[in-house]
Amino acid sequence: MSDIIKATLEELSKHDVAGVEELVLVIGDLTNLGEDQMTFAFEVMSRDTILADAKLIIESEPIRLKCKVCDFDGPAEILRNEGYDHTIPVLSCPECSGPVNVTEGMACRIRSIKIREG
Ligand SMILES: [Zn+2]
Repeated sequence: MSDIIKATLEELSKHDVAGVEELVLVIGDLTNLGEDQMTFAFEVMSRDTILADAKLIIESEPIRLKCKVCDFDGPAEILRNEGYDHTIPVLSCPECSGPVNVTEGMACRIRSIKIREG
């Protein structure tokens, strides 16, 4: 998160920006980064910067798999743990149980920034 903020501030400093209204952050379901956790980190790190007044919007990115065996390409199967407040993604092919590549769901990046021009 701190790297993202740092990179964002660096990018913004190259432009004539008066303020930032809105920041859309994409977090992959596989990163295990909680929304509350990210919001808190953002508040702490944006303090006294141009991002301090920005509204943080967090979007999640579902896990997507591509099978190395049967070419299945789609969402991961999610196990819901009864009684627990979290889910467990199954990182093998839902079709043939083969090994997979995770193609989406690991993101932690800024999707868009709405700025006020100076
Ligand atoms: Zn498969």
